Formats: sequence, C-alpha cells, structure tokens
Amino acid sequence: MQNCYEVVVVGGGTTGAAACYHLSQAGIKNILCLDMGRAGEGQTQTRQVDDQTPLTGRDEKYFVPHFSGSRVFEGAEKGPRTIKMIVTLPPYEMLDGFADLFGWEGVKTYLDLAQHGLQLQLELANQILPDPEQQVKKSGSLMVCEEERASRLKQEYEFLQKLDCPCEWWDTERVVNAQGAAAGYVAGIWFPQDARIDSVTYAKSLLAAATKNGSVTLREECSPVVDIQNDNSGRYAEIRLADGELIEANQVIVATGGMFIDKSLAGMLTPRYSYLAALPHNDPGPWGGMEAPDSANFFTLGFSHDWCVESNFVRISGEDHYSGLKSPRAKQRCGRLAQWGWTKYPYLEFGSDYPATYGIYSETPDFMPLVGKTESKSRICYMVGCNAWGQASLSAAAELAAPLLGYREMTESEQRTADLFSIRRFSARSTSTITQ
Ligand SMILES: Cc1cc2nc3c(=O)[nH]c(=O)nc-3n(C[C@H](O)[C@H](O)[C@H](O)COP(=O)(O)OP(=O)(O)OC[C@H]3O[C@@H](n4cnc5c(N)ncnc54)[C@H](O)[C@@H]3O)c2cc1C
Repeated sequence: MQNCYEVVVVGGGTTGAAACYHLSQAGIKNILCLDMGRAGEGQTQTRQVDDQTPLTGRDEKYFVPHFSGSRVFEGAEKGPRTIKMIVTLPPYEMLDGFADLFGWEGVKTYLDLAQHGLQLQLELANQILPDPEQQVKKSGSLMVCEEERASRLKQEYEFLQKLDCPCEWWDTERVVNAQGAAAGYVAGIWFPQDARIDSVTYAKSLLAAATKNGSVTLREECSPVVDIQNDNSGRYAEIRLADGELIEANQVIVATGGMFIDKSLAGMLTPRYSYLAALPHNDPGPWGGMEAPDSANFFTLGFSHDWCVESNFVRISGEDHYSGLKSPRAKQRCGRLAQWGWTKYPYLEFGSDYPATYGIYSETPDFMPLVGKTESKSRICYMVGCNAWGQASLSAAAELAAPLLGYREMTESEQRTADLFSIRRFSARSTSTITQ
C-alpha cells in the first residue's frame, strides 16, 4: 500500500470532508482521508474494550464508541437521520460576553464569517447532495426565552440589529402561537437564514465528489491515528496508527472533532458529549397551526436545549457534559431531555419509548475553533473545536485548506477568518509567530 501522500486529512466528518473537497477543487492531488469510523458517522459500533487501543490521553477503561459530532440518529424509527442545525450565532451565551473576549469587531467578523460558512455549506449542498430538497431544510430558527430573561433577549436582539445580522423580534403572541402556551416561552428572535442539513450525507457526498475526480483516496474504518509528528528533518509529517502503520505526508490536516488530543491541543480542546432524545408524536401538537415553518429549529437563549419537529419526532438535543474522556451518561442525560420534552409539550405521550443517542464534539476555552498551524514551519494544520454548533464556522475554516497549507496566498477576508480562529491565539509566541 502506498504510504506517502501530499496531504493526509485525519477525520472524514463535515470538516475533514470539506477540507478534502476544497483541496481537490484547488487542484491538489494525492490526498488521503483517514477515518477510524465511516465518513460523516465516526465509529458507530461499540467495540469490545479489549479490542481498543487507547488514543493519546485516553484511559482504556473508559473506551466507548466514538459517535462523531456529524452523525446523530440512524433514521426511520430509530430517530430522524442526522439532521443538524446550521446556527449562525457565535458559540457564546450572549453577544456582549463574546465581545468581552474578542471585541465588537470580533463579534462582527464572527457573524459575517458564520453567515459565509452557512451560505457556502448551502451552495455546496445544492451542488453535491443527491436530493438537496430532502437533505437541507431552509426553515430558519427561533431563539426563545422565558419571562425572567426577556429583557436580556431584547438586548441581544438590539446587539444583532446594530451588527446588521438578519433577524426579527417575535413577541409573546407569535412565540406562543409557534410553541404552545405550556412551553412557557414569551419572546423570541427569528433567524430566517438558518437551516438544517443531513450532515452524514453531506460529508459523504463531499468526499464522493473529491474521490471521483481522482484527488482523494478515502480509507474508512482504519486503525485509529494515535500520533502525528513533524519529522525531525522538517521535510514531512508522520502519522502513526494504533496498529503500528506509519504514513508520511507533506502536510496533514487534523479534523478529528473531539476525539483526538495531541500535545498541541492538550489544555486547549475539551471533548464533550451532547445528548439527543427523539420523542415520537403523531398529533401535530402546537406545531400544527404554528406560524414558523413546521421544520424550524428552536433553541433557548443560553443554548441549554435545541429542538425541532422532524419525521414524526420532536428531536431534542442538549444536556452537554464535560467529560468526553469518560463513559457517556447517556441514560441519565437523555432521560432528562425526554422529561424536559414531556413537560414543555404535554401533548406528547408521557413515558413512551423513544430513541436516544449521543455524540462527541470539542470545545475550546473561548468557544472558538482552533484553526491553522502552531508554527509556520509545521506541517500539521488543525481544524477542530466545533463547539456544539460550529458547523458553519468550521465550514468557513475548511474553505481555507489550500491557503493554510501554503498552496496559494490568502485573500484579505480569508486572512481575517484565519486570524480570528488562529490556534496561535493561545500560544505565548503568538505575537511573534502570527505574522510569519
Ligand atoms: C449531539 C450533537 C449535536 C450537535 N448539534 C450541532 C448543531 O446543531 N449544529 C452545529 O453546527 N453543530 C452541532 N454539533 C457539533 C458538530 O460536532 C459539528 O457541527 C460538526 O459536525 C463536527 O464535524 P467535524 O468533522 O469537525 O467532527 P466529527 O463529525 O466529530 O468528525 C470527526 C471524524 O474524525 C474521525 N476521527 C476522530 N479521531 C480519529 C482518529 N484518532 N483516527 C482516525 N479517525 C478519527 C471520527 O471517526 C469522525 O468521523 C453537534 C454535536 C453533537 C455531538
């Protein structure tokens, strides 16, 4: 087997798949995409603990299936298949908190590039998905809150307006009309441009397009990558798999979601679980007569829960917890999501069986992705830190694959994105290295 590539992309989720696609579009050849599971899905089968070789930083006894952040439910009666939101707000509770970290310029840059990432994802989806009408729902999203937080929500709306973000204020009547009175929500902000996408089919289709033109080879269900190093001579990078195989590459992109932590990421990236429950419903409930399209996304101010109605289920996600290196607490956390759903929407049959699952995503201390190389001479480029709803921002980052790897110059706007997300923002050397 050939073991020397121009670029190795580790991870075939939405981020790695998009990076492969953009590199292939830029004319780069001889790219290998490695995934220890399947593209867009991660590992979906539980392996025996004894069969597992631990990844860096993991304790063997906590090994669990590596459900990726791009995959959600399996489809049909097992829960609505992999439909995810594309939410364009920064990964922070409120915009003023985000501005404390990045300034209002940073907030504006983030909103603009998340919009760009969303549009880019929608355009690509349109070109590559087998049936975009089915796999993309351009139905908008509604952020809601209860009475005690209504003034904060209003303030958030005012910030968004000042930043020219396309959105609309919804008063109590409209929100109750959309949600039912039992839910207890009294105000909302409507984001008409938000959408949902079948992330698994999206990742697979991006890779199919890139493999079809001969630029990319996809290796699924490979032995997990356990180490990625720059070779001492500085001429290439070395990728080590758990079974001992060594692969060489001129450049590497690490797009492993929350499932791989090497020494450069330690302390900067936390793997987290997020849980999902899909409560069956046969009765249209409050959504039957609602003003918002019946497939809109809903989420709370503060993002404790997000939910939507899809394929005869109310699909709820949230209950994130901080220990993606340990066993998931799926029963407890999914149970809490179900309780929440039955309380908010009493028309649902209390106590009925429901599909439940979880996935792993990755979070950074300031909730922004980690993108780029830790040093300009390094051959390892990171694209991680999706922060629960980072598909839009990571899509914008993946578009930079060719310039980040030095295959072409960055445009000014690409440079702004690269600077905002730069992995070097956590490095003591960042001020000296950022301009190199
Ligand atoms: C339950 C849940 C709900 C979410 N909801 C949203 C949402 O509504 N909107 C949103 O934008 N985002 C959401 N996210 C975040 C989501 O993770 C990202 O949006 C995005 O899909 C992540 O894509 P990715 O390609 O970066 O990572 P992943 O999809 O996690 O892909 C990483 C891939 O790398 C492979 N891999 C990892 N480690 C190794 C290794 N060592 N060797 C070989 N292969 C490896 C995995 O098998 C996997 O296929 C959610 C996440 C979860 C868990």
